[in-house]
Amino acid sequence: MKIAVLSRNPRLYSTRRLVEAGQLRGHEVVVIDTLRAYMNIASHKPQIHYRGQPLEGFDAVIPRIGASVTFYGCAVLRQFEMMGVFPLNESVAIARSRDKLRSLQLLSRRGIGLPVTGFAHSPDDIDDLIQMVNGAPLVIKVLEGTQGIGVVLCETAKAAESVIEAFMGLKQNIMVQEYIKEAGGADIRCFVVGDKVIAAMKRQAKAGEFRSNLHRGGSASLIKITPEERMTAIRAAKVMGLGVAGVDILRSNHGPLVMEVNSSPGLEGIETTTGKDVASLVIQYLEKNSAPHLTRTKGKG
Ligand code: ADP
Repeated sequence: MKIAVLSRNPRLYSTRRLVEAGQLRGHEVVVIDTLRAYMNIASHKPQIHYRGQPLEGFDAVIPRIGASVTFYGCAVLRQFEMMGVFPLNESVAIARSRDKLRSLQLLSRRGIGLPVTGFAHSPDDIDDLIQMVNGAPLVIKVLEGTQGIGVVLCETAKAAESVIEAFMGLKQNIMVQEYIKEAGGADIRCFVVGDKVIAAMKRQAKAGEFRSNLHRGGSASLIKITPEERMTAIRAAKVMGLGVAGVDILRSNHGPLVMEVNSSPGLEGIETTTGKDVASLVIQYLEKNSAPHLTRTKGKG
């Protein structure tokens, strides 16, 4: 196969590993800098140009689109889809997953366990909003945040009120979420490929911190997940329409709760922690599933 990896930086661990795994399995793999690709939209034959040349002959595309380039990255990916190139994850599914609130709405509609979550626009509703998620302690999240930035634990209703007012004053979209104390500062990253969880790790926050993000000093270890957690992760990826996803789960007293479904899950933490060749499993998924013009949504939204 001829595979494109849409990535801003060929030196990133995940990008490097996908190229390496693809080449080892006998494929031609080309890294395309997402922001350097440009497109001819108003033509019968949709095209993408790159460094002065049209991109041609690709069978599959692996999007590694960073949160800050979601808009343009999804447009480039959609163009690949219009050209009939098979995407590892579809542009529509990636756009969905980047909106935390929309993702939770989709997951809740399909009965996936989630932390009780509230969302509001007007400051008049703060009291009731706090009540809706069963009062303090609670977690407030900026909708556009990543890597734990903009995720705040409020121990009291008073603190929550002030933080909510501050974010609203800054015109930030936020959601308010029940705090899952029993998770003990840990969450589980399930790496889903197709209809399997191919690797899982536990991330534990450092002492005095409730956010387990590795970027916030969290540490990762191997974990054996329960059949219920496995099913939840697979179903969550499916509801989002993602072939490959990193599903983050909190262990609560009433079962697994999905916090987030990530459409460009990093490979470094999961490969290092589990010792699994995740990159190769991703390439094998493409080998099994890729075919021309197979995109389900055809970029239609
Ligand atoms: P980001 O997408 O920025 O990483 P998350 O929503 O994943 O934000 O939150 C960051 C971390 O905070 C999570 O990995 C988890 O450890 C912790 N966390 C988030 N929400 C909750 C919650 N409702 N209850 C307990 N811990 C939470």
